[in-house]
Amino acid sequence: MLVTGVKTFQTGLRFALLFSLLPTTSTNLLGKAPARAPASARVTISVYNDAEVPADVLKLAENEASQVFRLAGIEVTWLNCRLPAVSEEASRDCREAVFPEHLHLRIVRRSLGLKGETMGISFQADDGSGCYADLFYEPMEQLHQSDGADIASLLAHVAAHEIGHLLLGTNSHSTEGIMHAHWTAQELALGKVGGLVFLEKESQRMKAKLATAFQASKEASLTAAAAVPARTGD
Ligand SMILES: [Zn+2]
Repeated sequence: MLVTGVKTFQTGLRFALLFSLLPTTSTNLLGKAPARAPASARVTISVYNDAEVPADVLKLAENEASQVFRLAGIEVTWLNCRLPAVSEEASRDCREAVFPEHLHLRIVRRSLGLKGETMGISFQADDGSGCYADLFYEPMEQLHQSDGADIASLLAHVAAHEIGHLLLGTNSHSTEGIMHAHWTAQELALGKVGGLVFLEKESQRMKAKLATAFQASKEASLTAAAAVPARTGD
């Protein structure tokens, strides 16, 4: 889950912090040119845009969230899903949910039961597995209007945070970085310049989970292939 404490900051302080943090984050970002992730570190995300986020905002947000995951060594494929689907094949691809390699994000206007400033929530079983997360667009719009937060960037980081929960399992909040439960104004400012990211240990944990699942499905398909009786040729 993610709420933000940004409203407690004064505008002057926010800009001062942004200015002072810029040089280090820019260096970190430019100094790390990620290579394409291996097949064992890829995740597909079906996106249901029930909140009718403008297409250009959604595209920007997906690109920025991809970059956050790329820095963690993970490649994201986004499926923008519509109802009704454009084709039976698209519908099938969108509906598929496989933990942890195919997850679902639903963007809705607001939460029905959570506090007003909550921007997202993920749904996980006791064992930490779960394919579904919801994002709440109205609180993001409010923050955009009140504090000038970049809405695409905000959406990107909230999406990455909730997907992070799904890939990291239970108790995955951190005291810093993108998995911090309550973002401060300076963290949001960092996000805008690519500095609100996963910690190294979180990146390793997510990649390990994806790699384990990748290996298991590879072995399962080899077992299935071996079970098919060989043709004798006569
Ligand atoms: Zn959270």
